[in-house]
Amino acid sequence: MQEIKKQIIDALEALRPELLEMSHDIHDHPELGFEEYHAISLIRAQLEKHHFAITDNFCGMETALKATFAGKGDGPHIAFLAEYDALPGVGHGCGHNVIATCAVGAAIGLSKVMDNFCGKVSLIATPAEESGGGKAIMVDKGGFDDVDFAMMIHPSTGRSLIGRGGRAAVIIGVEFEGKNAHSSRPERGINALSAVIHLFNTIDLVRPTLDMYDNINGVITHGGLASNIIPGFASCKFAVRANTMKELEHLSQIIQDAAAAAEKITGAKAKVDVGPFYAERYPNLTMGEKFKENMALLGEEMELAKPGAYGSSDVGNVSIKLPAIHEYLSIGPSTVNAHSKELAACAISERADTVCIKGAEGLAMTGVDILSSQELRDAIKAEHEKSVPDFYKK
Ligand SMILES: [Zn+2]
Ligand SMILES: [Zn+2]
Repeated sequence: MQEIKKQIIDALEALRPELLEMSHDIHDHPELGFEEYHAISLIRAQLEKHHFAITDNFCGMETALKATFAGKGDGPHIAFLAEYDALPGVGHGCGHNVIATCAVGAAIGLSKVMDNFCGKVSLIATPAEESGGGKAIMVDKGGFDDVDFAMMIHPSTGRSLIGRGGRAAVIIGVEFEGKNAHSSRPERGINALSAVIHLFNTIDLVRPTLDMYDNINGVITHGGLASNIIPGFASCKFAVRANTMKELEHLSQIIQDAAAAAEKITGAKAKVDVGPFYAERYPNLTMGEKFKENMALLGEEMELAKPGAYGSSDVGNVSIKLPAIHEYLSIGPSTVNAHSKELAACAISERADTVCIKGAEGLAMTGVDILSSQELRDAIKAEHEKSVPDFYKK
């Protein structure tokens, strides 16, 4: 192994106690998206201690930051991405404390050898992955404009994987404002629940014409309070998924048109709230293979994911803009489901602690590979250029 990679491993092994303390502290204080004040203060403290230049409120988000450490001159900019939001009811059931620790550790580890390289390393702390699309907001606000390569890991169960894709997704909420009336005199009211039911039926009507990979799942979040009252308010929510963000725009329009049709026929006023678009993911395999090689040096086996994409993450938006990886490191058996209390328990297990440190080391070592080789940088960029569809290129 290169001497410089050994230096990174030594530095991170020495920091193991404080990095794991941060991981467990984030886990013990689960915070929902855009409310991650405790987590961001812990992340900030670590980076400040290791002499990073910090930009708070990055891209206008209070629980985001960018922390940068410069090398010996101008050169490539590598960013490690941290997530740290939790889920309602199941706390860190997605294990984002592990993501944060790997990213912070990787940035600090790489900073310790940056005097060998031209370029810079950043930790970008990205809030609200689960619901608010923090990275999508950052991409839109230019937060990644000066970044050349982005890397992160996500904890998983079963086998550790590289190159897993993700689908495009958006949450769309619809509210209908009608008018209450006694149920014996429905003609005096405006039935908002009828509008919701109309909307569901219209979507089902269109469903057979959709692409087989398109997926719209709806729930009624408010359907009235009593059966002897004509509901004056009703609301619903749809999780919409598609292979590409472009296709997602089409599905979003269908829901908006169907809501307008329901308003027209029932008289209940529709209010449609389209959430941030989570783009599909373009995992950079050239970078992923390097990460896999480095994890093998650390005694961790990874394999290439089978084709097919199900879940969604706002790292997709980053992967359209620049070469990015979001690789999966296993912290438990495949019988444990994501977004569960069981996964939350795995996220502070001995295995998760090992992943926190080894993941940080593997990411930082991949940073060394990228900073050391123009040939590798060119290959990564060429793959990115080839894999991202032309309709995203302005
Ligand atoms: Zn997650
Ligand atoms: Zn999740």
